[in-house]
Amino acid sequence: MTRRATKRGEERTSLDGTSADVLVCGASFAGLTVARELAGTGADVLVLDRYEIGERQTSACAAPTPWLEAMGLEGSIRQEIPCMGFHTPHGSVRYRLPWSWSAFDYRELCRLLWAQCGGARFETAKVNARVEATGGDGANETPDAPIAVATDRGVVSAPLVVDALGWRRVLAARSYQPPDAPLSRGLEVHPPGGGEDLDVWIDRSLARRGFAWSVPADGEQRVGVGSYEPRDHVKGPTEDLAERLERPAVRYQGNWFPHRLRPATEAGVFFVGDSAGHCFALSGEGIRTAFYFGIACGRQLRRVVDGEMARAEALERYGAFSARHAPAFRRALRLQRLIPALPPRLLTRLFALLARQALVDRSFGWYLDQAHPAFAAGPRQAADAHGTAA
Ligand SMILES: Cc1cc2nc3c(=O)[nH]c(=O)nc-3n(C[C@H](O)[C@H](O)[C@H](O)COP(=O)(O)OP(=O)(O)OC[C@H]3O[C@@H](n4cnc5c(N)ncnc54)[C@H](O)[C@@H]3O)c2cc1C
Repeated sequence: MTRRATKRGEERTSLDGTSADVLVCGASFAGLTVARELAGTGADVLVLDRYEIGERQTSACAAPTPWLEAMGLEGSIRQEIPCMGFHTPHGSVRYRLPWSWSAFDYRELCRLLWAQCGGARFETAKVNARVEATGGDGANETPDAPIAVATDRGVVSAPLVVDALGWRRVLAARSYQPPDAPLSRGLEVHPPGGGEDLDVWIDRSLARRGFAWSVPADGEQRVGVGSYEPRDHVKGPTEDLAERLERPAVRYQGNWFPHRLRPATEAGVFFVGDSAGHCFALSGEGIRTAFYFGIACGRQLRRVVDGEMARAEALERYGAFSARHAPAFRRALRLQRLIPALPPRLLTRLFALLARQALVDRSFGWYLDQAHPAFAAGPRQAADAHGTAA
């Protein structure tokens, strides 16, 4: 059961009229990374989320170990996972990756990220929509005019506003609604269990177009099913897989996740993480990319805060940076369409062919390069988010 820590009733005082230099909406992977990047600038950074930081885990919480290390988040690792198993109804292969995954503790990871956010303030509030700032349209009046955001605790404003609220893209003119939006759906259970490998099943009896997984996390097993087709249900298949693995279907959690890149800026607002579609199609991996694009966005905001550039230039640079990654996201989407359509026996043979270590190293090396942890290593104030990944 999720432990509810979010303030209620009298503790929820009004925030109406509150302003900040930077307003970060969403306090998960993307939002906290943006706030972290602004530490030490002296900017008044206000972070909002409908839940307390770390209260609601939204994923299987597996990320490349080098990314967790680069972000100083090693303390949240529950289990390092060097190998992946791929299973079809006709066979299995096991790959030793050139880098490892790590399953981490969400609450602890968020705590560690928040500890790196310097003097940023945090409030629990549900963000409802962007609204017109008092005295006209904030985005168009003066170059850096405040943008107003309506929450369930009143209207909050800032000249720099980040939407890191996940797939709904709440601060956009048109928010996303399944099942018509380009979204996948995932559900998992978290029974006690274990294992050594991150196992992936491509099996039409579990997901017609999608995949299933098991992530060991030191005494816990995160077992789930993702469907690229948002109309296909995943609860029955998740329970089937848990049964196959002889694990009880307990502690459910699920969500939608995007499989197509979206514009990373819109009408003066910066979008980061799932809100910008920064989640790879095919693998549904969106934590590392939330870090990566969160850093890129934070670095541009930092320059505005430091007086080096205006908001419009930061929007232009960050938007262009995100768009430059479109080919990799498109390639992943093409594979997402192709792989489930392959005859299962052919797919099994392909997995076997790819099992040569040189090929595993090359393909997984390429995959990590698409959002490489070296990007996190640069000194924050000197770094330029205008390049692409290492
Ligand atoms: C079942 C499942 C398993 C997954 N497993 C993995 C995995 O192992 N590895 C991986 O890399 N990716 C995984 N993903 C994808 C990954 O979870 C997302 O890509 C990632 O969480 C995106 O991070 P984010 O910070 O952009 O958004 P989110 O993590 O969704 O965070 C959004 C934040 O905004 C808050 N919020 C939302 N709406 C509002 C509102 N109106 N007002 C205030 N606050 C609000 C939420 O409370 C949350 O804190 C998985 C997805 C699913 C569904």
